Amino acid sequence: MSNLLIIGAGGVSRVATFKAAMNDHIFKKIVLASRTKSKCDAIAKDIKERLGVEIETYEIDAMDVDATAKLISDTKSDIVLNVALPYQDLAIMDACLKAGAHYVDTANYEHPDEAKFEYKEQWAKHEDFKKAGLMALLGSGFDPGVTNVFTAFAAQELLDEIEYLDILDCNAGDHGYPFATNFNPEINIREITQKGKYYENGKWKEIDPMSVKFKWNYPKVGEYPSYLLYHEELESLTKNFPSIKRARFFMTFSDNYLWHLNALQNVGMTSIEPIKIAEGCEISPMEFLKKVLPDPASLGPRTKGQTHIGVVATGYKNGVKKRYYIYNICDHQCAFREVGAQCVSYTTGVPAMIGCLMIATKTWFEAGVKNMEEFPARPFLYQLNKQGLPWFIEELPTEGLPIDN
Ligand code: NDP
Repeated sequence: MSNLLIIGAGGVSRVATFKAAMNDHIFKKIVLASRTKSKCDAIAKDIKERLGVEIETYEIDAMDVDATAKLISDTKSDIVLNVALPYQDLAIMDACLKAGAHYVDTANYEHPDEAKFEYKEQWAKHEDFKKAGLMALLGSGFDPGVTNVFTAFAAQELLDEIEYLDILDCNAGDHGYPFATNFNPEINIREITQKGKYYENGKWKEIDPMSVKFKWNYPKVGEYPSYLLYHEELESLTKNFPSIKRARFFMTFSDNYLWHLNALQNVGMTSIEPIKIAEGCEISPMEFLKKVLPDPASLGPRTKGQTHIGVVATGYKNGVKKRYYIYNICDHQCAFREVGAQCVSYTTGVPAMIGCLMIATKTWFEAGVKNMEEFPARPFLYQLNKQGLPWFIEELPTEGLPIDN
């Protein structure tokens, strides 16, 4: 049994905390801390009412390493789940090293003033974690996270080697607003408005944002235009599976979503550069935009439809070319009924909790900084089925599909 400290109290945290409470035979004590304590209290109250499980709550600024280390020690937490924002990754990792706790997150470090995300600075802490006998598990959400595990499963059990990898992310949900982001608007818009990038023959190739697309038929959900964009799991997957010749990531966007995004970009509302509004008042347009857009956590009750996320892995098995599609479908209303959040939070929060469970039970354990694909996929896949995210495998034709063009 382990004590778990969850940091952040947004949509993902809500799901991860609910799911941890549903596994209280593994997590002896669950502590929830965030910048705004009232948000932790609201989640704790809901869990107490629905599941009868007690959650301790605290206020914390996770950028303050000493205060976070003290909270870890005071609450005797063994594992820290960071579901705050990617800006806090390094500070929370340092707090874990200081207080002697394992670390799990769902998104790689992003510098608040630079629209770029990469694993470099987190991987640089590998020796420190190793020496301390602690484990940091990076990217235990859905994408990154489950997509890494699906890829690992293809490499470990379905193919001798993966040659081509396409990750496909479709949110076919409808929240009824003209424009809203399904998770933190700042992180979401920064991800989409930067240049697209994919990996081919050992090199990264850049494209203009949203300039490559195709239509993909997402089984049981429908056909949607899917746009190539850079996503962080490509960095670790191409490093850990050097046989990969090409790796790409595609996400669906409606015409309406892109129309709004273009308009916002054209008038400068997606910029992260602070501007002076009045004497002593500076704010970046993106921060302002975040305040006026619907809170992603409020989309839950209104969102209908499904998400569909999977990987298509192509390679050879015993000399025969093979292609497998491994995917999950999650229903927004089902997720909302179970834990009070829509699928984007659900598909992230469930694997975040499973990552902690893997460490708590020592099913996955190696001191150092690790990515999801570095461990056997099966135990994690088993937990996905058990904890609410069932997955499917289909064998696809190896030629003639839109991804072959
Ligand atoms: P939200 O913006 O809804 O929640 C973030 C929470 O972090 C808020 O409660 C916020 O506090 C808190 N927070 C922010 N700064 C600090 C700080 N300095 N100290 C303490 N708490 C802080 O985000 P989501 O729940 O949508 O996403 C959470 C994480 O999950 C993000 O890192 C996101 O990138 C990641 N994610 C990963 C996905 C995946 O598949 N891998 C998919 C979707 C999201 P306050 O309430 O005061 O603002």
